[in-house]
Parts: sequence; C-alpha cells; structure tokens
Amino acid sequence: MITLVGKVVLITGGSRGIGAAIASMMSEAGATTALTYNADKASAQRVARRIARGGSECLIIQADVSKAADVRRTVRTVLDHFGRIDILVNNAGIWKRGRIGRMTEAQWDETLDVNLKGTFLFSNQVIPVMRKQRGGKIINIASTAGQRGEPFYSHYAASKGGMIAFTKALGAELAPENIIVNCVSPGWVYTDMTARVLRDAKQRKEVKKLIPRGRVGSPDEIAGAVLFLASDLSNHIVGAAINVNGGSVLFG
Ligand code: NAP
Repeated sequence: MITLVGKVVLITGGSRGIGAAIASMMSEAGATTALTYNADKASAQRVARRIARGGSECLIIQADVSKAADVRRTVRTVLDHFGRIDILVNNAGIWKRGRIGRMTEAQWDETLDVNLKGTFLFSNQVIPVMRKQRGGKIINIASTAGQRGEPFYSHYAASKGGMIAFTKALGAELAPENIIVNCVSPGWVYTDMTARVLRDAKQRKEVKKLIPRGRVGSPDEIAGAVLFLASDLSNHIVGAAINVNGGSVLFG
C-alpha cells in the first residue's frame, strides 16, 4: 500500500545507522534516493551498492550539513541528476557529551550547527524547489532528548528541542503550500552513535529500565515511521513529532 515510486528522496547522513536504514527502506518502496555523508565515504558507498543491487538508483554526495556552500552544492547536484526533490529527510546528527559549566563555545556551536542549523540550511534550500513543484514532504529526525532534556547533553537536547519547534513552525507555515513537515522522535536506537554506551552491559541494563518495551530500538523501526510520514497515508499529519521510543516518552 505504501509506494514511493516516482519520488526523489534526499537523506542527510545516510551513510550509517538510521539514515542508511531510511535510504534502504525508501528505495525498497520505489523511491530514487540521494544521500549525504560527511567523512565515511566507504559506508556511503556500501549503502549505495546495496540499494543498487535491489534495482534502485542511489546518488551519494559528500557534504558537511553545517556549511551553507556544501548544502547548496548538494541540492544542485541532486537536481542536476534527478530534476526534482519530493522528500527531504534531515537526519544527520551528532551526540557528544558535554558538562555544563565546562562546555566550550566550540562544543556548543558544533552540536547546534550540525543538528539544528543543518536542518535549517537544507530546508531553506529545498523548500523553494518544493514550492516550484507545488508540494513536498520534509521529515526531521529529532530525539526524546529534545522533549524531556538529557543531562550532560544540554547542547544536544537544545538542538533537538529546536528541531521540534522548527518542525511545528514550518508545518503551519508551509501546509497551505502543500509542503508537509513533520518529525520522528527516536528514543535509544542501536547505531554507531550509541555503541559506546550500549556496548557496556551495565549501562545497557540501565537504559532498558527506562523503556517500557524493555528493549532498545532498531534503525529499521525509525525508518518505518519515516516511510509512513513520507507516504500519502500521512498527508493530513502536520507539525507532529511521532514518538518511536518503546514508551519512554509519551508526549509529542
Ligand atoms: P550515526 O550512526 O552516528 O550516523 C550519523 C550520520 O550523520 C552519519 O551518516 C554521519 O556521516 C552523518 N553526519 C554526522 N555529522 C555530519 C555533518 N557535519 N555533516 C553531514 N553529515 C554528518 O547516528 P544515528 O544514530 O544514525 O543518528 C541519526 C539521527 O538520529 C541523528 O540526528 C541523531 O541525533 C538521531 N537520534 C539517534 C538516536 C540513537 O539512539 N541512535 C536517538 C535519537 C535520535 P559520516 O558517516 O560521514 O560520519
């Protein structure tokens, strides 16, 4: 029932983890995909090869999402190759520990620049394209940290809370133009980002205690919600934060 045949999807940070799962699932649904990576070209190439084996086209582009020139070049490249962008997934992100009172301005800026400014830069470049096409969908990958905060990750929590507020603002601003903006808010997911914590049996047990489902999520479980939001089944959902967290946070 869900099909993305004929749709062009741009996914930031598609080389690993959640972004790679989104790219794979969307191409299985028939989409043509373009994904960005920052440093890990080999992983991006692996994702593209896997997608190509499934019979779909996947373009990979190096881009630092926090740099406006990279973002402009990325959007131009996708348009040169595929001629349109129907769905934008702002997924690229970083999660680095930082104790308040000792956090440097550079630490704060790095997290806000990648997670929040990157989301703004890509949205700002892609929305004019969607306006010309008379529609589109934007899906931002937020976090439970942006809903309930996260000790020792205040910059990350602020960036993700900012993404949720940005989603709501754009949701209302762009719905009259048939550009639908929502976000998915994951809880703990097994990826490289969380491996340092989740590899440790004691810490993993503590994490699971906070999740009513009693387990950590998988990248595919986040990708499933993104696929739903990208599809026509969700066309009347606007400015929402869809929780995919096993019950750890129960407000959107
Ligand atoms: P991940 O495995 O660490 O992958 C991060 C991705 O973002 C990679 O593709 C990476 O590219 C890219 N990236 C990082 N910095 C970038 C930059 N400056 N410019 C462009 N791309 C950059 O992370 P993940 O767990 O899949 O996380 C994906 C998203 O989900 C993030 O926004 C994260 O905050 C959010 N999230 C994750 C969890 C979780 O438990 N994992 C929970 C809640 C929310 P390279 O491969 O080139 O480094």
